[in-house]
Amino acid sequence: MAPDSQPKISVAIIGGGIAGLALGAGLKKKAHVDFHIYESIPAYKDVGAGLALHMNAIKAMALIGPEVRQAYFDKALEMGEEDQVMSTEVILAQGPHQGELVAELGKAKGRKTVARSDLLDGLLELVPKERITFGKRLESIEESEDGVRIKFKDGSDVTVDCMIGADGIHSATRSYILGPDHPATAPKNHDGWQIYRTMVSADYARQHINPKWTQTVPILLGPRGHVNCIPLNKGTRLSAGVAVRGAKFTASGEAPPLDPELYKDYSEDAQRIVRMVARDTSASWEGADHDHAPTYYRGRVAMMGDAAHASMPFAGNGAAQALEDAAVLDHLFSRLTTPSAAHIEAAFAAYDTTRRPRSQAVVDLARKFGRVYAYAEEGMHEDPARMKQFFGGAAAFTNNADLGRQNEDAMKLFEAAVQSGEEGASVQAEDAVEIV
Ligand SMILES: Cc1cc2nc3c(=O)[nH]c(=O)nc-3n(C[C@H](O)[C@H](O)[C@H](O)COP(=O)(O)OP(=O)(O)OC[C@H]3O[C@@H](n4cnc5c(N)ncnc54)[C@H](O)[C@@H]3O)c2cc1C
Repeated sequence: MAPDSQPKISVAIIGGGIAGLALGAGLKKKAHVDFHIYESIPAYKDVGAGLALHMNAIKAMALIGPEVRQAYFDKALEMGEEDQVMSTEVILAQGPHQGELVAELGKAKGRKTVARSDLLDGLLELVPKERITFGKRLESIEESEDGVRIKFKDGSDVTVDCMIGADGIHSATRSYILGPDHPATAPKNHDGWQIYRTMVSADYARQHINPKWTQTVPILLGPRGHVNCIPLNKGTRLSAGVAVRGAKFTASGEAPPLDPELYKDYSEDAQRIVRMVARDTSASWEGADHDHAPTYYRGRVAMMGDAAHASMPFAGNGAAQALEDAAVLDHLFSRLTTPSAAHIEAAFAAYDTTRRPRSQAVVDLARKFGRVYAYAEEGMHEDPARMKQFFGGAAAFTNNADLGRQNEDAMKLFEAAVQSGEEGASVQAEDAVEIV
């Protein structure tokens, strides 16, 4: 911790989503950090549907603090009945292996789901009210010797020692760091994904689909789209969807209506969900993700979460990666105790080196999940054993990572950079004395 006489480091976090709030929950425990979160919307909306956080997300939350992990558990719904161990069940819904279970994700740990808005509420309770301002939209960033000057849409501005953009997939921070015309700046929908989605009460769903799928997460696969349900709000509501790859968008970018007739060769369970979704697709959206950014920082401005590495939702690990980012940045700020530009840049470089390869591998993995779900991965659907192997390997990669080690790897890089900078500075000072 910095001595009282030492100036605090001022940090602006742009965006109060899962990434920004989780980082804020960690930074509030660091007396030498003076942070503020600026969120563009006036209040949270129920977007992004439901999340099933994987083990790496839980581990990352625990590294930031037990209260962060607890905030999730307080809001999450355990899938299934009390005496049942439930999981995400990936099942082939079409073709010769129809009905075959190819993955059960999260079974060992007792799978939980949470509405994004509930998780945000839980995290928000951990951030002091005076540290977050709603209705503040970042418009531009300027860096100078005095620091980072951030201008907001309402005409106000603030100058800070450093800024972290947690401003989501359409990030203005990303545009500043990479440049507005960089090929990786704008999100893309390479595989033409359209995600038809509906939100219904659990009571309504139980009348229309197999009631089992109102208590656990099914992912029912087939070549014209995969079908999925996720229970929300402590089991009172259900988000159900059909994700279609290669959707035929009109010239003006509109997706065709969801046609249940196209799913006649899917399992009855899957067809019933498709019919329920087709009744009201008003919660639908077009999929997109980010091509790999060559860096996650520029000077004293960094990006995290979906701003840095938005992925398709199919691997269910976007929020988990945002939380891993928050864990690493929070850890670096425990030793980043001076507002020196060199030290801030060293910390951001360590974060970039540590987090970029893994988070970008998850972007690639999520794309591959999409292709596997759509039977578009070289005959994999004809070989369920191969499919099982793929899902097992993917789960091991995302869940079994040693995140304590990831934090320490970042810290070692930061400390080595600071030390070599100081040695460099002292050599220069000695040289200067000799010249005099
Ligand atoms: C349908 C769906 C299902 C998913 N399921 C899972 C899952 O099961 N497990 C999982 O781990 N992940 C899942 N994800 C991914 C996960 O939701 C995201 O990765 C995660 O929410 C990213 O958090 P974030 O804070 O980085 O970005 P966001 O949640 O997008 O937050 C960004 C915030 O920044 C604000 N903002 C934007 N621009 C500005 C600006 N200029 N100035 C100020 N503020 C700004 C926004 O209002 C927003 O509040 C899913 C995503 C979707 C869409």
